[in-house]
Amino acid sequence: MTVVGVLGAGQLGRMLALAGYPLGLRCAFYDENAEAPAGHLGALTVASWDDRAALDAFANTVDLVTYEFENVPVAAAERLAEHVPVFPPPKALDVAQDRLKEKTLFRDLDVDTAKFAAVDSRADLDRAVAGIGLPSVLKTRTQGYDGKGQRVLRRAEDLDPAFAAIGGRPLLLEGFVPFERELSILAARSRTGETAFWPLVENVHRDGILRLSTAPAIGAEGALTDEAAAIAGRTLEALDYVGVLAIELFQHEGRLLANEMAPRVHNSGHWTIEGAKTSQFENHLRAVLGLPLGATDAIGVSAMVNLIGETPDPAALLGIEGAHLHLYGKPARPGRKLGHVTLVEPERAALESALGRVATLVAEPSLSR
Ligand code: AMP
Repeated sequence: MTVVGVLGAGQLGRMLALAGYPLGLRCAFYDENAEAPAGHLGALTVASWDDRAALDAFANTVDLVTYEFENVPVAAAERLAEHVPVFPPPKALDVAQDRLKEKTLFRDLDVDTAKFAAVDSRADLDRAVAGIGLPSVLKTRTQGYDGKGQRVLRRAEDLDPAFAAIGGRPLLLEGFVPFERELSILAARSRTGETAFWPLVENVHRDGILRLSTAPAIGAEGALTDEAAAIAGRTLEALDYVGVLAIELFQHEGRLLANEMAPRVHNSGHWTIEGAKTSQFENHLRAVLGLPLGATDAIGVSAMVNLIGETPDPAALLGIEGAHLHLYGKPARPGRKLGHVTLVEPERAALESALGRVATLVAEPSLSR
């Protein structure tokens, strides 16, 4: 039986393992956290990312390695690559971990982004603000996720406190984009070079955390989808990428600006489990194994609502006709993603009414429309 080694054992790992069952695949996980929730679905090696002996032993138990967590140290992925194939390539991990490298890659590929400048000192911040203007967003270059490590700068007085809060490590200043909406494109590239693109997804974030995804994004068929697929296609080729890649985009004055990428399956693709002909998880596994990719067409219209911090009564959620509930088996904690609900309907009106029912159970402002 083919064993896919997965670095990271969070909910994305769980969903990869679930997608692997029908294909006769087994996943084995590696994580620093003994409580990581994918451990319920496959063997879990608990060791630190710099434990070379543990990495070597893990490599001996798997046929290839992929990741579901993007802050895996590149050195760990490279160490594993000495023993077994590692997909996506560690280079993609390296670029995606550093916002400066990521934005520079987009610029090199002629993909529009917000204006940006590296900030390594307080004096750099003044220079960057002089060039980019206010409002702007100061972000840590590495280790930021779900809105952590970011400060919006609106006035000159905001610079000192923002730098005091997140300075002292490499930063990036970006122009603030007054976007109309946030979108993401999910794409897959197989070891054979075959590519596939799901329809554009519209995402609503609050406090930097994804709350709601709807797909296909309204009014995005045609030029916007083609533009997003072209952005993703160029990025896949440039990185000689294998696996699923997610790119988060801002739509501003009808144009797409790339914000960031995730070299893995992505929260804004969870709707594909029930809402697309082939899920992001299955296509990720197909891609890293060099199997033909499955069709990525949407089946009707979908909405995915994250369950964050606390979960409503599962029985009440399941009482909503057509609701697909996914609980990740994680202890509740404020701000933590504990599960999600996906609704798939043939038409928008039915989707909106099902979302209205979810809104009575999940206290999330973006659902009350
Ligand atoms: P990020 O960690 O870069 O994905 O940022 C988290 C969220 O902050 C994004 O999804 C946006 O809602 C917001 N954000 C990030 N960068 C910008 C920007 N340059 N302009 C406006 N909003 C931003």
